[in-house]
Amino acid sequence: MASAFISVLKPNNLMALAEENFSPNFTVKNPIVISTWSHGIAANEGAWVILDNAGKSIDAVEAGVKVTEIDITNRSVGIGGRPDRDGHVTLDACIMDENSRCGAVGCIEGILHPISVARAVMDRTQHVMLVGEGARSFAIREGFETAKTPLKEVKKDWKEWKKEHKDEFKKPTINNENHDTIGMLAMDEFGNISGSCTTSGWAYKLHGRIGDSPIIGAGLFVDNEVGGACATGLGEAIIRIAGSHTVVELMRQGHHPQAACKMAVERIIAKHDDVTGLQCGFLAMNTKGQVGAYSVYNGFNYALRTKDRNAI
Ligand code: ASP
Repeated sequence: MASAFISVLKPNNLMALAEENFSPNFTVKNPIVISTWSHGIAANEGAWVILDNAGKSIDAVEAGVKVTEIDITNRSVGIGGRPDRDGHVTLDACIMDENSRCGAVGCIEGILHPISVARAVMDRTQHVMLVGEGARSFAIREGFETAKTPLKEVKKDWKEWKKEHKDEFKKPTINNENHDTIGMLAMDEFGNISGSCTTSGWAYKLHGRIGDSPIIGAGLFVDNEVGGACATGLGEAIIRIAGSHTVVELMRQGHHPQAACKMAVERIIAKHDDVTGLQCGFLAMNTKGQVGAYSVYNGFNYALRTKDRNAI
């Protein structure tokens, strides 16, 4: 069992918002959009353009995270992301709407907007998930924009990293600086909830590795009767407890989003003998517009946008 004290650590930056929203009477008038980390502020703006114009949550969560994907200074999402240990920038993304329709791409290379390809898998195929070369050829066939990766600066960093981390090729360790997947949840003015999630994943991972982020139920889950949840952090640990699905099911049992996220984090902690360096966080929203978040260690935050609030 992991030491119990870890579970009382709180994600510092987000607790003010989360605790305020914890009040059983706190209900946000929709639309509302929330997303992980401080890059969520710009992403929420992208989503807000849709939500504020009576748009649908599924369009908002796609447009929102595209803002992050196109930001080539972002080293954990999109084509500016860090490569795997062989130098390939492989991207993961998924999307889910209010009717439980979903789409995903895993380990896709050289495509500007993995989230839109995930949406196309959902809208234009009978499948839920495409990976690797198959996902890339589908994207090209469907007319999605390509990009050359890794970017010059990213390649330079990777070469440095390779020199300094020869042993990493035997046993990869998590890069704690790179837990910055964007996960987004939005409720539109019709009360419908959708979510999206996109990442370049664990920096310098083994080639072919897919984390939680493109896996429906792990990195993202939405049930319009209950709410939605998304995850960030060490994907392997999140997958082990089907993290986002667990949070939604806990909300279905009546738990507030904040309590549900905390319980999921506690479950992860309980399943690991050693949580050193194991950072994971969940973000959730229920049908009342109540939100919550929780992570193993301090440092996780999220951005929230409503008609009268735009905060981190
Ligand atoms: N969850 C992502 C992954 O494991 C990375 C992260 O959010 O840090 O690929």
